[in-house]
Amino acid sequence: MSEFRLTTVEEFEAATARLLETGAKVGADSWQARVKNQTPHCKFGEEGVCCRICTMGPCRITKKAPRGICGCDVHGIVGRNYLKFTAGGAATHSDHGREICHTLYASAADGCYKVKDPEKLIRIAKEWDIETEGKDIYDLAHEVAYEGLMEYGKPFGTQRFLKRAPES
Ligand code: SF4
Repeated sequence: MSEFRLTTVEEFEAATARLLETGAKVGADSWQARVKNQTPHCKFGEEGVCCRICTMGPCRITKKAPRGICGCDVHGIVGRNYLKFTAGGAATHSDHGREICHTLYASAADGCYKVKDPEKLIRIAKEWDIETEGKDIYDLAHEVAYEGLMEYGKPFGTQRFLKRAPES
């Protein structure tokens, strides 16, 4: 069985540097370049004290105006902005996982998508308490993909990958 290893920050940074170098040669844009055009950021937005949740706003919190039109104070506005950003960001990225599950579901021995790392598939299946013994690798792939898809909009229980989170 192959050894499971997470990619290190240094490896990510080295790969990013190579990508930027290649991009610069062909004149490609990057977020690192775009962020310079957006600097300095809007002070209200950066502090999270601008609310655009409803069409009565946007409301900005200042000493003179400590509450939005609806009455929400700075704690409410900053807190829900933070929650919306993180929940929205996590949801957006998690959808890449949904596409991966669809692709895995479409995998076949004679198809366009194939299982390249059976050991990894078996490891994840075991982590999710899916029986692996004696199963055709593509039957197992479809089962894992199905269970993965069922993680989205899960009506009961908790996310399977929560098991990976540290106790704290
Ligand atoms: S502070 Fe209240 S009124 Fe203003 S935009 Fe946000 S939700 Fe709307």
